[in-house]
Amino acid sequence: MSFNSLGLSDALLKAISKKGYTTPSPIQQKAIPPILEGKDVLASAQTGTGKTAGFTLPILQLLSQGKHLSHRPIRALILTPTRELAAQILANIKEYSEFVNLRSAVIFGGVNQNPQVSQLRQGIDILVATPGRLIDLQNQGLISLSKVEILVLDEADRMLDMGFLRDIERILKVLPPKRQNLLFSATFSKDIKKLAMGILHHPVQVEATPENTTVDAIIQKIYPCAKEKKTELIIKLITEGNWKQILVFTRTKQGANKLTESMISSGIKAAAIHGNKGQGARTKALAGFKDGSLTALVATDIAARGLDIPLLPHVVNFELPNIPEDYVHRIGRTGRAGASGEAISLFSPDETVFLRDIEKLVGLKLPKENIKGFEPDPNASTEPIKQGQGRQQRNSTPKAKSANSSSRSSNNSFGPRRPNQNNDRRSNR
Ligand code: AMP
Repeated sequence: MSFNSLGLSDALLKAISKKGYTTPSPIQQKAIPPILEGKDVLASAQTGTGKTAGFTLPILQLLSQGKHLSHRPIRALILTPTRELAAQILANIKEYSEFVNLRSAVIFGGVNQNPQVSQLRQGIDILVATPGRLIDLQNQGLISLSKVEILVLDEADRMLDMGFLRDIERILKVLPPKRQNLLFSATFSKDIKKLAMGILHHPVQVEATPENTTVDAIIQKIYPCAKEKKTELIIKLITEGNWKQILVFTRTKQGANKLTESMISSGIKAAAIHGNKGQGARTKALAGFKDGSLTALVATDIAARGLDIPLLPHVVNFELPNIPEDYVHRIGRTGRAGASGEAISLFSPDETVFLRDIEKLVGLKLPKENIKGFEPDPNASTEPIKQGQGRQQRNSTPKAKSANSSSRSSNNSFGPRRPNQNNDRRSNR
């Protein structure tokens, strides 16, 4: 299948070909036609499969076909959970819209609002936003959403979980009730899907997981490691393997800072990125990581969503996530757009429950490799270590576990999310 057969305009085809894309990815093939027909869409697509173009291309087409109002009210609103993802989506839109007469902008918190406000005043057709800043500007009467025709929730499962749900509900209230809704995510739990269905109107459901080449291209490995030796092991892996670009995930912001300091003391160029860092520091760290001036970026799950770092070869889970879906998002930072990648998890005995839940979710037994000198004590406790302040313990009840165990398909790496997921467990990152 070619992009031509999807019904996209010449202006968009020109931008696509300039970008070097020759064939639409499976999610693009499935999502673009119903979006162009004006339908609501619920799309499950692994990260890295081209989902951004899957919704932005048809939006650009629909808006450029529609009637142009001289004052350019916001007609498409794209909401994302993180600032970095918002900025990345805008960058994509700018490229795809080079040959159409549409204006786009991004707004997010952590930076001065004035430049954003003056941009909005000039008239914007497509707005990419994080919920907090959007509500803030709306409350100040600086933004009107009354003409929105298309709403996108990217990383929809995250947008509808407890951290964001209130904000989303507030935003929905000020949008016109009649609009096209597009919900995209790599993972959807039953609970979230229920919420999603409350927003969507007779949606077309599209899924592009089985054809996914990205995930197969990620080599996943578990290195059992004594908890207190993880720092030493990761430094050894980076220095002895001569790794040039490695994204490392920790469970907490404090953990990210501490590991970054240890890496820097060992001569590794590293920076941390998490919710306590100012936007300037976050942008700088990500830019340094992308341009190769930093070897390691140490992140909490804030960076697990959607970030596109082309050809990122290594992702390391310094700690396993306690929410199994986060594993899928984290390792999805590598092996993108068909490239290969390696996802390594340093696994200590106290993470036994986390690993079990991850393996259940992905429907795979992840191969373990012992590294001499780092193996954990075979008699070490497998009880989860109490989390720091603000963290919640897992509430993985036996009932939830058995309900979950039959829902995996064997060859599809990433099945649906588990019901009863406790979303309170995100507060410290
Ligand atoms: P996404 O899943 O939207 O983050 O996209 C992942 C990567 O795939 C990005 O670097 C896109 O530029 C790239 N991409 C998107 N669509 C295509 C396509 N049809 N052909 C080749 N690369 C693509």
